[in-house]
Amino acid sequence: MGRYLGSSCRHCRREGMKLMLKGIRCEMAKCPIEKKQRNVAPGMHGWRRGRNSEYAVRLREKQKVKRYYGLFERQFMRYFHKAERIKGNTGENLLQLLERRLDNAVYKLNFAPSRKAARQLISHGHIYVNGRKVNVSDRIVEIGDKIAVKGAEKSKKKIKEQLETNPSFSTQGWLQLAREKAEATVVALPTRDDVQIPVEEQLVVEFCSR
Ligand code: SF4
Repeated sequence: MGRYLGSSCRHCRREGMKLMLKGIRCEMAKCPIEKKQRNVAPGMHGWRRGRNSEYAVRLREKQKVKRYYGLFERQFMRYFHKAERIKGNTGENLLQLLERRLDNAVYKLNFAPSRKAARQLISHGHIYVNGRKVNVSDRIVEIGDKIAVKGAEKSKKKIKEQLETNPSFSTQGWLQLAREKAEATVVALPTRDDVQIPVEEQLVVEFCSR
């Protein structure tokens, strides 16, 4: 699997919004989106934001979702085709599938400061689902799944420290966290309201169905 090695902040600057790709740094004043002079699209013509065509508006919505969840084009389109095959609203199905990815769940549980860090935790074998080690980030979690942190004491300690960074943190309704054991249960499927990125999913569907 390929890996994007460029700057994550470029993605936010392109979309003109915070995609929260770098964990704690995203909350700080260092974030380029917070700085007026740096909140421009990347590239030498970045400051020249013209009026977007209808195509460009739809493309940007799709890119926003893809980058928010840290996916490549082919992975994203796989989710889209899967969402099309599920009954109901394709846009909502797509967002729900993406939200149910294991790396997203680990991030939403505050086990890791970003989705990228969550993927690393998973690939290094620290995350167990229903008592079994899972090292693929794209595992779709189901109702009743138990997500736990196991592994070397050092990593456990790190995750406990991460949980302590935000003691008032509370998970969304679809995840139930036992903070002291660093364990969680999926109690429902995520709804559209659980997806925090402001996106018009209908435009994403229109783009992908061309
Ligand atoms: Fe960079 Fe995070 Fe700010 Fe995005 S939100 S620009 S990733 S610091």
